[in-house]
Amino acid sequence: MAEPPGDRSRPGAFARAWAKAVSGTSYLPMTHAQLEALLQRLTDELAEALRTEPLDLRAGYRVGGELVAAHIASAEGLGRTVEVLQLRLVRDLGLVADDIDDRMARLLAAVATGYARALRDRTLDEQESIRRATLAARTEAERALRASEARFRHQATHDALTDLPNRKLFADRLAAAVYEPEPRARRIGLCFLDVDRFKRVNDSYGHQAGDRVLVQMAHRLRRAVEDHLVARLGGDAFVILVERCTGTGDLVAVAEAVLAAVAEPTIVDGHEVTLTASVGIVERQVAGASPDELMRAADCTLHWAKGAGGARWELYDAERDGQELARQALSAAIPAGLERGEFYLDYQPLTSLHDGTLLGVEALVRWRHPQLGVLRPDRFIGLAEETGLIVPLGGWVLAEACREAGSWTSAIGEPPFVSVNLAVRQVHRPGLVQEVSGLLRRTGLPPRRLQLEITESTMMNTAEEPVLALRELADLGVRIAIDDFGTGYCNLAYLRDLPVTGLKVAGEFVRGLRAPEPHADERILASLVSLAHALDLTVTAEGVETGGQAERLRAIGCDAGQGWHFGRPAPAERFLANLR
Ligand code: C2E
Ligand code: CA
Ligand code: CA
Repeated sequence: MAEPPGDRSRPGAFARAWAKAVSGTSYLPMTHAQLEALLQRLTDELAEALRTEPLDLRAGYRVGGELVAAHIASAEGLGRTVEVLQLRLVRDLGLVADDIDDRMARLLAAVATGYARALRDRTLDEQESIRRATLAARTEAERALRASEARFRHQATHDALTDLPNRKLFADRLAAAVYEPEPRARRIGLCFLDVDRFKRVNDSYGHQAGDRVLVQMAHRLRRAVEDHLVARLGGDAFVILVERCTGTGDLVAVAEAVLAAVAEPTIVDGHEVTLTASVGIVERQVAGASPDELMRAADCTLHWAKGAGGARWELYDAERDGQELARQALSAAIPAGLERGEFYLDYQPLTSLHDGTLLGVEALVRWRHPQLGVLRPDRFIGLAEETGLIVPLGGWVLAEACREAGSWTSAIGEPPFVSVNLAVRQVHRPGLVQEVSGLLRRTGLPPRRLQLEITESTMMNTAEEPVLALRELADLGVRIAIDDFGTGYCNLAYLRDLPVTGLKVAGEFVRGLRAPEPHADERILASLVSLAHALDLTVTAEGVETGGQAERLRAIGCDAGQGWHFGRPAPAERFLANLR
């Protein structure tokens, strides 16, 4: 069954049998016809080698290599190849020689060797290219990671709107600057900046316009203080970190530069607006400083600048800060103080100037502070008014005064009325009428024995509601007095329409009565008294310290006096003893 030699265009029976044997042993990237053609070529090569003397084993190696190169590279593929060559090659090609079996065996071994070598080389190559690819992929991945990390880091440390460093980056830089080990004499400074009334820009032109203004501000600030870190803390608040300075002068220069930058005219939606800012400056030695404390100090100073009207810088002042902190701490302690019963009332007599009888007493609150001792109201009332704590505190005073006064008795007529100071917030609170009438009911104190003292400024510009509440109280019979009269607007005509029963003339007016000669104050006071009487108001003079003053006030026509001359504020016991 020999094929005609030399016919290479059509695969012979052996090549076809070989192709059949190996097809399906591994994935082959070629058609069956291509496979047969390939194997025909290899068959020819092997036949050629078997016929040639001496036997050239390299042909076997080459064929083995080519099989692997053609992806006939599985263990099965090799097995089938060996089998088909062994069984059929010599026979199918009709090869004859004495040592043909021996030649065939050696050639077959060479094919297997070539095959194994090629497979090993290919595996090594594959490993190498996998290694290379892995390396390249890893390098690329690392580069991408680094790039996205850098982007991420930037986003995490910069403000999205203005691209300025954000609070976090600023805090990191500040901490690094503070804790950097270096000569202890190094100084550091911060400028907290806040645009004044920035809300107006947002309100008038919208938030998007506001955002554009902030971006512009950020550029200007960065330009104004190129050498220093400018960060946006949020909203319209910025901070400048001066990591090395020689004194407050450096910081003032920075503050003036940024204030000037903000003050440049800004165009918002085609309108020119001029903005101003407030700057709080803190500058100090690094030694002993902490980032938190520096931030707090700068923030607090910024509020001083705002409080002073804005468009300015202020320098941190430790003493002022200390006082404010003490005030805040005191204010924060009011609720606990109320709970623990640390407040109590002293009473100061309001004495008739006509016959010297005790008409009433003013309740004056005191705080027996566990650490600070007895505190006068000037120490804490202002604070309580600012924070709103005056509502619970004043409520307690009112209740306590009604309770105590309800228990007073007198052997010589009706016991004195009690006069209680009411703060603005208390007057403006809805429910005042119910609160007072409830107290009167519970304590049994007759309404005419309660007087409420309200300052002039509380009454001025007051809405309708509080006036109605006071009128209801006046209708109940409660007395309403204007406290510290003369220190405010002093508008008697206006009083005509208010439910007021009396005036308490401020001590300043009474002070003038010390002079031996009649003073201008005395004439003013005299006409005030007659006007008040025309309006059916009683007049009580405060701060009466001498008998001379009392006498002149009586001569002028004042109804009552209050002051050291008549008695200092004291516990109720003091005057109650005189009534028995
Ligand atoms: P005020 O209502 O004008 O009370 C009179 C203040 O003048 C009292 O000071 C009193 O001790 C003081 N004073 C009395 N006589 C004389 C005098 O002859 N000469 C001088 N120089 N001063 C005299 P105090 O007790 O320290 O009270 C200060 C202020 O605290 C009060 O001024 C009042 O505005 C406020 N206050 C006191 N208790 C309360 C309260 O319960 N509620 C509210 N809202 N304010 C209160
Ligand atoms: Ca008063
Ligand atoms: Ca007063």
